[in-house]
Amino acid sequence: MFEIEAKTGEASGSLVVQGRGQAAVSGGAGRIEAFAGRWSVPAEPLRRVAEVYPFRTSAHFERLMQRPGDPIWMQVVPDPRELQDAGGFRDPLGEEERSPVPNLVHRYPDRVLWIVCNRCAVHCRFCTRKRRWTDSVPADASLQAAGLDYIKKHPEIRDVLLSGGDPLMLHPSTLEEYLRALRAIRHVAIVRIGTRVPSADPDRITPELARMLALYHPLYVNIHFNHPREINSRSALACSRLADAGIPLGSQTVLLQSVNDSAEVLRELFVGLLRLRVRPYYLFQMDLMESTAHFRTPLHRGLAIVQSLRNRISGLAIPQFVVDLPGGHGKVPLLPNAIHRVKQDRVVFRDFTGKNREYPLMPGEEDELKRFLSAE
Ligand code: SF4
Repeated sequence: MFEIEAKTGEASGSLVVQGRGQAAVSGGAGRIEAFAGRWSVPAEPLRRVAEVYPFRTSAHFERLMQRPGDPIWMQVVPDPRELQDAGGFRDPLGEEERSPVPNLVHRYPDRVLWIVCNRCAVHCRFCTRKRRWTDSVPADASLQAAGLDYIKKHPEIRDVLLSGGDPLMLHPSTLEEYLRALRAIRHVAIVRIGTRVPSADPDRITPELARMLALYHPLYVNIHFNHPREINSRSALACSRLADAGIPLGSQTVLLQSVNDSAEVLRELFVGLLRLRVRPYYLFQMDLMESTAHFRTPLHRGLAIVQSLRNRISGLAIPQFVVDLPGGHGKVPLLPNAIHRVKQDRVVFRDFTGKNREYPLMPGEEDELKRFLSAE
């Protein structure tokens, strides 16, 4: 029988400030005073926000902070603007309505997202699942058995993305139970793990954990990295342990106002990730999550950044810029328009410097190409 053990795997390096309905993980309200004291900032504004959206950071992330308001700080420290944003949605991707059983989201025909853990190494203030920080569905044995049963009964599911929270916050033996159970299902070809741990609490990626994960190939790991400062010797070691275990690594980055919304910052991040053997995979336009408007960037900024990187750094280092459509209607890639005009016998492209370049069309190709482009 499939059993999820009640082990937490909580890291001693994590700090959490309790909010409404949040189980205490480590420490209590005194932690926010200690954090504010270390940085000589007033505690009260942080506490007011943390009562609604709990604060959590890791010792590693705090070491990366250089000053209040810097790009690492902004990602995890409560901001009074969170309480002033009345727009957005509590569940912007409509995950709850696409959950045939609790904690499992079935949005695309051949894939499911399975939430196996409610804890994270840090609380990213722009998180699309912020609602779960205070209102989580327990990932207990009976609910998780229902998720596994659903996957077993749906042979069209070939790809399972373990998510959370963060699956790598589970005790390794608990995570291994999930992997072993999934590997016993013949139609599940691929298992993926979405995680922030290698960038936010990298010491958790031990050689033993990497060896365990290597038993369950084909396994893919997608790591959340937002800023080049998250790349240091510790996160590099974590990634190299996973890569040495034969795990293909990808990254996910959220485009965030005043954190990483410039071509220079993202170029440094993406090129740095390739050096760690992490292939930049997605650059996300911010989801329309309530309390996060101060992070949102206009669509044209992401397009301009992607266009400015194209042909200036290796194509391997350029992720797909995507918007996850509100309501759970799926991801759509956003591309700078490279076709300037379609003529009878040629098409006019814009090259990466902005100049027009012609390319010959085959006879009769024009109409079909125009139809395709307008249909797109
Ligand atoms: S690690 Fe992921 S799930 Fe956790 S708070 Fe950050 S974005 Fe949200």
